Amino acid sequence: MALIISCAVLGLLVGSFANVCVHRLPAGKSVVSPGSHCPNCGAPVAWYDNIPVLSYTVLRGRCRQCANPISLRYPVLEALMGASWAALAWYFGPQPVLAMAIVFITLLWILTLIDLETFLLPDVLTLPGIVIGIGFAFWLGYGVDSLIGAACGYGVLWLVARLFLLLTGREGMGYGDFKLLAMLGAFLGWQALPFIILVSSLVGAIIGSLYLLLSKKEARTEIPFGPYLAAAGVLYLLWGPQAMRWYANLVAG
Ligand SMILES: [Zn+2]
Repeated sequence: MALIISCAVLGLLVGSFANVCVHRLPAGKSVVSPGSHCPNCGAPVAWYDNIPVLSYTVLRGRCRQCANPISLRYPVLEALMGASWAALAWYFGPQPVLAMAIVFITLLWILTLIDLETFLLPDVLTLPGIVIGIGFAFWLGYGVDSLIGAACGYGVLWLVARLFLLLTGREGMGYGDFKLLAMLGAFLGWQALPFIILVSSLVGAIIGSLYLLLSKKEARTEIPFGPYLAAAGVLYLLWGPQAMRWYANLVAG
């Protein structure tokens, strides 16, 4: 229980920093300096106004200086981060794999939010993510699977994109997606890739067509694919090996 609570609190605090990353990384700004400030009036945010979720509630979602509304994204990401860290602590318990899972989900939340807002998956996150994933894999004993996973993750999507370009004459995916799948392969090993590609394209196709149907936009509308890859990666982390065993049994009859 102590582990779950401390993970929840740490997750909230890191969620606060993650907001800074989501806000500044796509613009190529430093995440360290200057300190937190209101994007509207530039007033620095005092430590007591920077307490995850709580400050937003106390301030009723407005800057203390200029009363400009603060994006709901801030408390939402903090809460999501705290909740997912706590859930992982509950799921994995005090094991080395918990450290990997927490770093993994933190990177994925930040990448997902950036992708949803800007359609970008910045290299400054995915490339170090690949290296960190490989590092964890060697520590946890599946280093070679991880190296193959990173290479194949990039290669498979690159190939799919080349074929798509040849067939349709337009780009369907960004290079950021290749690097994200390489990162997922690095963290989870190459065995995760078929599951991730299948689940993310299924879910992506369903949500994508619903979105196009409801918003009546053209089929050419670009839809960020990163969030589906990220979601499939988390599903694999939690239930992937079981799901694949279940499927293998089903096929074997
Ligand atoms: Zn302000």
